[in-house]
Amino acid sequence: MARYTDAVCRLCRREGQKLFLKGDRCYKDKCAVDKRGYAPGQHGQSRSKSSEYGQQLREKQKAKRYYGLLESQFKNYYELAYRKKGQTGENLLSLCESRLDNTVYRLGFAMSRPEARQLVLHGHFTVNGRKVNIPSFQVKPGMVIALKESSKNLEKIKGNIEANSFRQPPKWLDYDRNAAVARVIAVPQKEDIDLPIEEHLIVELYSK
Ligand code: SF4
Repeated sequence: MARYTDAVCRLCRREGQKLFLKGDRCYKDKCAVDKRGYAPGQHGQSRSKSSEYGQQLREKQKAKRYYGLLESQFKNYYELAYRKKGQTGENLLSLCESRLDNTVYRLGFAMSRPEARQLVLHGHFTVNGRKVNIPSFQVKPGMVIALKESSKNLEKIKGNIEANSFRQPPKWLDYDRNAAVARVIAVPQKEDIDLPIEEHLIVELYSK
């Protein structure tokens, strides 16, 4: 699967807010949004107020970039969300939030979603006792996500767990920090999602 490989700080600057794609650095004064809080490129400092379409487009780009998705993946989630019962925008966020890489990030095993994706790809996690190395894997209520025994002593992961020990896991996950095991107890709802996304703008964009 193709990935965005350019400098990720440009994405935050383009959206005009922190997307927390670089872990530790995002919390320090080296953050590019803090240092240069305007869009990248020659006309970055002179962009005018955006149109309604522009706002919808930016909201979609922001959500995509938070979760590290390409356009085709995000559009697939939208179509799935549209076919499900309930509000399309909330279904869309719930599908993105239920990805295994996002779950690993929300549990504090990684400092950023891109790092969580790497950890999943490297096979450090199990779901219901079986190794799963697919970042897009959808976790569902009743499933148990665990850090593999053999990965518990890895310095990187231990350091991340330590650094994130202050973070509360979301309500839809019942997390046993000592055992590094979490059970999914509910489908993530809009209020469980810690991202400032106005999902109705995304639905308006795709409904055109
Ligand atoms: Fe975004 Fe983090 Fe880079 Fe800041 S340091 S611009 S929050 S990725």
